[in-house]
Amino acid sequence: MPGPRRSPRPCPACGGPLRFEVLDDERFLVAWTCLDCGHASTTEPG
Ligand SMILES: [Zn+2]
Repeated sequence: MPGPRRSPRPCPACGGPLRFEVLDDERFLVAWTCLDCGHASTTEPG
């Protein structure tokens, strides 16, 4: 599956490309938004 490597993971809903935005540097909180379906999620490791 060739394609632009803009994000390390695909959308969990449709498999489309995700765009990530750092919300909180200290807590490493990142928001992921799908470019195809608009599915949004946040990741907060730890
Ligand atoms: Zn999607």
